[in-house]
Amino acid sequence: MTHDQFQKNLSEFIDGELLGSLRAEMVDHLDACEDCRVLFVTTQKTIELSRGQGKPKLSQAFQTELTEKVKRAYRLGNRCEG
Ligand SMILES: [Zn+2]
Repeated sequence: MTHDQFQKNLSEFIDGELLGSLRAEMVDHLDACEDCRVLFVTTQKTIELSRGQGKPKLSQAFQTELTEKVKRAYRLGNRCEG
């Protein structure tokens, strides 16, 4: 997955509309790429604020999984080459 592919799919990913291998690739890219992690967090906040719900659609389990991956990846300081 490249930055472009990640960014193209980001809003659907945040909405929980991506399934299967594509979602897994998005998670892998998040895991590996600091730039896209920042973009992901920023975009997610922006979408939540713009909808005024404060209640994202992602399942609790998926959110927890992502949060753990992001935390772990931040500690490792990974960057992708993409
Ligand atoms: Zn990236």
